[in-house]
Parts: sequence; C-alpha cells; structure tokens
Amino acid sequence: MILLTPRPSRAPSRAARHWGACPALAARGAAGQALTVALVLLLTGVGLIGLWVTYALRAAYEREAQSRIQAEARLAARQLADAIVAGAALPAAMAADELPATLTAAGLYDRAGQRQALISRNDPSGEASLPERLDLAELDREASVFADDRCLAAAPLRSAAGERLGALRLVARHRGARLSTAVTRLAYELPLWLSVAAAGLWLMRALFAPGRRFRLERNARAAPVEFVMAGYQEVIDRLQSAGRELERLRSDAETRAVAQAQFSDRLIASIPDALVVVAADGAVGLANLAAQSLFGRPPGVDYRVFFADAPDLMDMVAASLTDQARRRKAEMEATLAGHRRTLDASVSPIPGASSVLCLVTNITELAALRATTRAKETLDGIGELAAGIAHEFKNSLAAIDGYARLLAQDAPRSAAAPALRAETRRLTQVVTEFLAFTRPMRIAFAPVSLAETAAEVASALRDLAAQRGVTLRIAQDLPTVAGDAALLRQALENLLRNAIESIPESAPTKRVALRAETSLTETTLMVEDSGGGLPPEVAGNLFVPFFTTKKQGHGLGLALVRKIVVSHNGRIEACNLPGGGAQFRVSLPLQAPSATRGFQP
Ligand code: ADP
Repeated sequence: MILLTPRPSRAPSRAARHWGACPALAARGAAGQALTVALVLLLTGVGLIGLWVTYALRAAYEREAQSRIQAEARLAARQLADAIVAGAALPAAMAADELPATLTAAGLYDRAGQRQALISRNDPSGEASLPERLDLAELDREASVFADDRCLAAAPLRSAAGERLGALRLVARHRGARLSTAVTRLAYELPLWLSVAAAGLWLMRALFAPGRRFRLERNARAAPVEFVMAGYQEVIDRLQSAGRELERLRSDAETRAVAQAQFSDRLIASIPDALVVVAADGAVGLANLAAQSLFGRPPGVDYRVFFADAPDLMDMVAASLTDQARRRKAEMEATLAGHRRTLDASVSPIPGASSVLCLVTNITELAALRATTRAKETLDGIGELAAGIAHEFKNSLAAIDGYARLLAQDAPRSAAAPALRAETRRLTQVVTEFLAFTRPMRIAFAPVSLAETAAEVASALRDLAAQRGVTLRIAQDLPTVAGDAALLRQALENLLRNAIESIPESAPTKRVALRAETSLTETTLMVEDSGGGLPPEVAGNLFVPFFTTKKQGHGLGLALVRKIVVSHNGRIEACNLPGGGAQFRVSLPLQAPSATRGFQP
C-alpha cells in the first residue's frame, strides 16, 4: 500500500517545524505561540505604562506637596515670628495649634546670628539643617527652599519699628515622601514583576508544552492518524481477504484431495481385477475388494499369508521384492477357496518405493474357453476325418453286428456271438455319442421344467444308484428354464451318472444330490457327491474329449455336457467340496436368448 502524504507548498513555518508536518497541529502551535508572545508584550507594555504613570504621578505629587509645604512653612514662619516678636518664647509658640503638623524642627537666632533656641520634633536630620550660627545676611533673608524631602523656611524677626531682632528658621518635612518611596518602589518593581511573570509564564509553557503538545498532537493528529489507520485497515482488510482466499483455496484443495482420494478408492474398489500392494517389509498394504474376495484374506497380513493358496504368485512377489523386476505369468493355476482357478498375474515394482504392485485377473473362464478353443482347434482338424471314420466305423459295426447275429443263428450254443454283439453295441454307442458330439448342435428353446427333467433322469438312474448303494436326493424346487429338454436331460444324466460312479464301494457315505440356487436371471444347478473328489490332474482335463479315468469310459460325457451347457448360453465349472467329494455347477439363464445359436466344439 502507498501512503499519500500532503506535500507542503512552501517552506514549513516555525510552528510547522516545531509541531511537525501536521497542518492542524502546526496551526494550533502557532496560535499558542502568538498568544504567549502577545501576553508577554501586553504585560511588558502594562509595566512600562505603569512605570511612566508612576513617575508622572510622583512628580506631580512632589511638586504639589513641595509647594504646599513651602506655603505652610512660610505661613508658620510668619505666625511664629509674629508670636516671638510679640514676646512669646519659641517652645510656646511651637505649641500653637495652628502650626502645621509637618513642622518638625525650629531654630531661633538672635540679632548676632547666634542660635538661641532649638526645637525638634524627633527630627535629627531637620536639626542638622539648623546651624549654630548664621551670617548676618542670612538673618534678613526670608526664604522658603526645598531640600530633599524637607522644606527650610527662614523668616527675619523685626520689631514694629523695623529693627532687626534676629531670625527664625523652620524645618517642615514632607510626610508624603515615604508614600512616594513605596510608590516609586512599586513603579520600579512592577515591570520587574511583570517581566518575571512573563518569564514564569514562558517557563511554564516550556515545562508543560510537551504534555500539551502531546495532547494537541494526539488531537491534531487525529486526522492523519485516521488516515494512517484507514490505510492500515485497508491493509488488514486485504490481508483478511487474502487469508479468506487462501483458506478457500486450501479448503478447495482439501475437498479435491478428498474427492480424488475417494475417487481413487472407488476406482480401486471397482476394478474387477485383484489389486494388491505389498510393502518392502512384506506386509500387504492395500488389497481391493476383488483381491480380498479372490484370495479370501484381508489386507494388513504378510503376503505369504495373503497368497498362501497361490504359491506361484507368492514366489513372484518374493522375487520382485528382491530384484525390483517386473514379472508376469499369463496362466497360473491356483486352488482358491476349494475352486480351481486360472490366474493371469503380474507383479511390478512401484517407482520411488520399495513396494510391488500385484495385478491378478481371474481368467478361469477364459482359460476354459481357451482350452475349449484349443480342443476345438485340435478337433477341427481331425473332427471331420474322425466323423467320417466314425461313420464308416458305425457302418462296419452294423455289419459286424449282422454277422454276429448270423453266427448266433448258426451256433446258438456259442457264447462268442452274444459277447460279440454286446461289444458291438457298446462301440456303436460310443460312435453314436461321438457323432452327436461332433455334430453341430442347434437348440430349439422352449420352457423346460428342470424338476420334471431331473425326475426323469433320477428314474433312469435309480437302478444304477441302487446297485451301488447310493442315495439320490433331487431337490423339489428346481425352476423352469428356456432350453432343449432332450439335451438338458442328457447333460443332467451324464453329471448324475458320473457322480454315482465316482463314489467307491468303500465310501462311508454314499450320497448324490441335485439342488439349485436361482437368481432373477439365472439358475445354478449343483450336482454334489460324496466321492473321492477331483485330483488336480483330473480337474484340469475334465472337459477334454476322450479324457477318462474309467476302464470302460470313453471320455465324451463331460465334453458333451459342456457343449450342451454352452449351447444354452450357460457356464459349467467343477470343484471339490470342503468335506470331500466333487461339485459340478451348471449355470443356465432363465430366459431364452433373442436368437438361437449353434455351437461347434
Ligand atoms: P467317462 O465318464 O466316460 O470317463 P466323462 O467325460 O464323463 O467320461 O468323465 C471324464 C472323467 O472325469 C471321468 O473319467 C472321471 O475321472 C472324471 N469325473 C467325472 N465326474 C466325476 C465326479 N463326479 N467325481 C470324480 N471324478 C469325476
């Protein structure tokens, strides 16, 4: 902020210099100074005038008093002279009441000029002016002179005949002289006192001027102070405004940071892939919901605990924590929560930190699809050839069966002919299934009651279950789906047959169950058994055509099941049950797709 101070147009006055640059203060200071000077001048003038008036009055008074005393002295001298000439003595004459009170001394001289009598009314100085002897010339002189404050009157004493008898001298004192001295003192001292008063006034002003100046400054500077205060207020306002702006920016930044953090949290949480951050000390610092759900463990634990069910991933993390190198494994097998999972895992070091980021994608279905695709690719080449061969094989089997029937007619007691025919029928069944598997499948979607379908299948397998001592439990609340009834019956029969056959003779519990969990869009059929479960080498090849572990198996049952399920836009997966046995889960949509589609394995 810039403070604008008024620039003086000319050289500052003394008052301005004395009182500072403030015009109001300088004006008041100048007025005070002028008042003081005027007062001092006034007092001095009054003193001088008083002095002059005093002198004038004194002179007039003196003149009047002298003439009065001279007249009184002259008159008294004449009266006394008359009384003495008449024969009165001087003391008696002096006692006359008519004599003025100012008469203080008197001297009587004889005709020879010798003093004969001296009277003094306590006036030694007056006595001094009456000498012992007078010249004869002085005896005849009649005078009245004034010396100092005394008037000396001389009167000759003559007889009626004019004969010199002597002389009389009187001394009269001017009584107003003392008063005159006091007035004179006053006249002299008045200017002095006035000057002292003026000096005192000046001194007091000098002594109390700072305090007064301070008050004046305080008052007189009110305007500049207000000006400065207004400036400060403006600065404060601007600072406060800047502070509020900073606070708003800080709040915005905080809100943005919080929003960004929330967005990041939501983003991480919404990522369908598992995201795990492992710190340098091995602790899992971050694991999104997908990771927690996939690996079944919360963050905060050691990565060896978190990835306990995925040893390959654990090894990758350990290696990357050591050498900070990026690793990826496109297909990694792991058994998570009892389910066989195929994972696509990558472990990358986080720049600037010693931690690593694990990104794991559950590609189980994709892997299955890939396997199917691989199988399809394998079969694609040999499919047509195999189908042709199978067709020829079936024709040959029909011929063999014909010959076997003829043989049975020619040798009815021979056991070879029936055995030949039975083996021929079995081979024919295999070839029929194979041809069914390789044939393009077209689904005629219609509502299929799974409850009815399951009841038919259970009825068909009742003998097999009874023969093996297996209890078959079919849930009653199976829903209705859209699909091909015959194909779905075929799929259910294959699954339930496999389940029954998986239970060994020695199993303590022989139980096969079919139940369903239905949501708004799909139903999941679960075929569970109390058999020996799925060893890893079996679990990975369940749906591969011709994969079998049975002596009499042909390995096409599950391949056909998956073909049927996929043709119905469904999914199939298998896992081991925690208490033993296997579980096959078939998910089917409740509604038919808008258009039927074919499936070529
Ligand atoms: P097949 O029954 O002719 O062997 P499948 O395709 O039906 O052919 O089955 C392939 C293999 O899958 C079986 O040989 C068996 O080892 C395994 N399997 C199928 N179902 C089960 C089950 N419920 N429990 C254990 N293993 C099973």
